[in-house]
Amino acid sequence: MIDYKGARWIVACLWAGTVACVSAEPIDFVLCCASLDRPVRSHGSRYAGPMIDAHAHLDPSSSKAYRDQMLAALADGVMDGLLLMPTPNHGRFKKGAQSVGQIAELAAIPGGAIGSLCGAYAWNTWMGQQLSVSDSGLEKRRGELEARIASGACIGIGEIATRHFEKWAGQAVLTVDFRSRALHALFTIAQEHGVPIDLHVEPMEALGRSHEQTSFAELDQIFGRYPGIIVILAHTAMTSAANVQRMIARYPKLYFSIKAVNRHSHWRNLEPVSLRRDKMAYFYEDWAQLLERHPQRFFVGSDFKFSRKIRNSPGGRKTLKKYRKLISRYRDLLGSLEHQAARQIAWDTPRRLFNLD
Ligand SMILES: [Zn+2]
Repeated sequence: MIDYKGARWIVACLWAGTVACVSAEPIDFVLCCASLDRPVRSHGSRYAGPMIDAHAHLDPSSSKAYRDQMLAALADGVMDGLLLMPTPNHGRFKKGAQSVGQIAELAAIPGGAIGSLCGAYAWNTWMGQQLSVSDSGLEKRRGELEARIASGACIGIGEIATRHFEKWAGQAVLTVDFRSRALHALFTIAQEHGVPIDLHVEPMEALGRSHEQTSFAELDQIFGRYPGIIVILAHTAMTSAANVQRMIARYPKLYFSIKAVNRHSHWRNLEPVSLRRDKMAYFYEDWAQLLERHPQRFFVGSDFKFSRKIRNSPGGRKTLKKYRKLISRYRDLLGSLEHQAARQIAWDTPRRLFNLD
């Protein structure tokens, strides 16, 4: 993919069933990156209200006992709702289908508090490998996904990565060409079914190569071409608070999940949260102010990989004890915001966005 550095306008011709040329103008963005040493918001009394974690994953090979621990965390009130979805790279897992089935089982528990987003397993690595996909492959996937959305088994599409770079040694790179008709089929399904699509789009590579111009222009194309679409940019769009403010001003149907990253060496350029020497997590003041101004656009998305056992992935084995600690960290973080904003982010925004009742 080509970056048009310095070009304010780009014109892209998209192939998605019919050829269409769409003008796109990226937000007037601030170049990466903000200082990691900028001011943070001090903690208040920790947020003790209801909370939904609306962006988490379940890796393959979890035991029944492990999944029971997940349900126990919900029953204990660690959080009140949990939305699980395959990771963008789920298609690479040998037993990927198994955990997709387990997510579906957990989401199907009557009266349960777990929901599911779908599509990433069958679509993301498949369309990332090739610009040109077969008609039969596309129709098969489209039929399956639309049926699952129509049945209510899936309340959104995700997590779909178009730019997913190597942030820790060995992490698989996954990119999808924006001209991909499979990608545009997903946008069309999201729009037609009125469900959000959760996108992972890194505007910067960890070592500093910028894709800001192109990725922000592509976002503009998405809303230009699919005016009814609801988009979530995962992990607060992995850009600065200043850029997210500009996106909010321009796109009324754009939402953001908040990831409390603790080690910035693993994931630069997306720092709403700072982990200080006292090992406590704090919102940077610029993010705290943005969250308080627009709490209806943000929700908690831990990005926790339940059952992950990959040794060199950040944080090592993902135990329920670690998850409980992470959610506790979110309660401290939310406690630093005005109470109404904290409650909106923790509860009201994800409930409205995903039509949860
Ligand atoms: Zn992600």
